[in-house]
Amino acid sequence: MKVHEYQAKELLKKFGAAVPEGIVASTPAEAAAAFKALNEPLVVVKAQVHSGGRGKGVAVGPEADRAEALAVASGEKPRPEGWAKGVQLVRTAEEAQKAAASLLGKTLVTYQTGAVGSPIEKVLVTVGHNIVRELYLGLAIDRGEKAPVLMATTEGGVEIETIAAHHPEKIHRETIDVNAGLLDFQARKICKALGFEGETAKKGSVFLKNFVQMFLDTDSSLAEVNPLIVTEGGEVMALDLKLNFDDNALFRHKDIAAMLDPAEEDPNEMRAAKWGLSYVQLDGNIACLVNGAGLAMSTMDLIKYHGGDPANFLDVGGGANKEQVLEGFRILLSSPTVKAVLVNIFGGIMQCDIIAAAILAAYDEINFHVPLVVRLEGTNVEKGMKMIEESGRKIIVAKGLTDAAQKVVAAAKGETV
Ligand code: GDP
Ligand code: MG
Repeated sequence: MKVHEYQAKELLKKFGAAVPEGIVASTPAEAAAAFKALNEPLVVVKAQVHSGGRGKGVAVGPEADRAEALAVASGEKPRPEGWAKGVQLVRTAEEAQKAAASLLGKTLVTYQTGAVGSPIEKVLVTVGHNIVRELYLGLAIDRGEKAPVLMATTEGGVEIETIAAHHPEKIHRETIDVNAGLLDFQARKICKALGFEGETAKKGSVFLKNFVQMFLDTDSSLAEVNPLIVTEGGEVMALDLKLNFDDNALFRHKDIAAMLDPAEEDPNEMRAAKWGLSYVQLDGNIACLVNGAGLAMSTMDLIKYHGGDPANFLDVGGGANKEQVLEGFRILLSSPTVKAVLVNIFGGIMQCDIIAAAILAAYDEINFHVPLVVRLEGTNVEKGMKMIEESGRKIIVAKGLTDAAQKVVAAAKGETV
């Protein structure tokens, strides 16, 4: 799960790492009031969306050409007059109000959101600082190390992917012991690598240790400070912060779980989650209903291998019931791009005849406007397959994984199977 910048910064602040002071606003009038409350000469108004690249992004209304907006946000085309950026520096309350009005209620298109963009419902009105240096900090789980790894580079403010691709040696890494947090010597090493000296090095160490502690204590899966800044006054603070949390640990963090913004989530993924289904939307046209994440992954691989494109990942779980299968089908069929559906279920905990009954019941309840291919394996498979074969419904029966993949790929292409 992701949260907005203002929420992430509030968390980081609680852990004692410095962030610029800020106030979140939902209307232009609130933004003007926030400017006055901050009482600083330079203030920044920032669109709150989960994606990055806001500084170069464009806020557009419903009438705008989104493809052109994306070209501008990606730096491929010059920015037309009056196209608002997602991050704006202001010096008066009136300017703050105008900046907020240019963002709120609009859609922010950045190179990360793609042409669809993200709705802007809030802006963060925050104290502007005179930046002396822009750096980068990242924390991610390294599977090889089986531990979080802190990454730091002096190349802040730019896309880290570019540095990782062209100058990996410029990224300094420290593996974190999850029980001990960032150790003093590790903090000193990173500070040295970032060129921090004297008071700045002391402040940098405090920042780094608190940043790592926040990551560990909140069960984050990814944290990115881009940029980390050194101000004219020698302060070290997070100008921007992106956080992802481990969904499987959210039950331990009710306060973080409550930060979920439905406007940023895929409606189908939310709907599936309510039913205990794991669903991920993809770009293809073959919908898959599978039990077990491993089988779901291999099913998608096989579809690809045989020349098709999966429309989604859907794991109905080991003990899926009729209601879950029904809801799964409804979600799959709600997408206009779906051209065929593949059910691939291994009846281990659940028996194949019970699954077959659920599929048939679902088939009758839902208007199946696309071909359905079914492959079952496991306990009572003969009984289950016979029920489907003799049902008189237009269901394509597959024997084995390869047969299933080949049949569904052909069906999606409109071939008779
Ligand atoms: P992102 O584009 O979504 O990553 O948004 P950021 O929060 O990183 O802001 C983008 C850019 O705006 C930063 O890299 C800075 O160059 C600029 N910016 C943001 N806040 C300030 C500020 O307080 N002072 C100055 N001078 N620039 C700022
Ligand atoms: Mg940034």
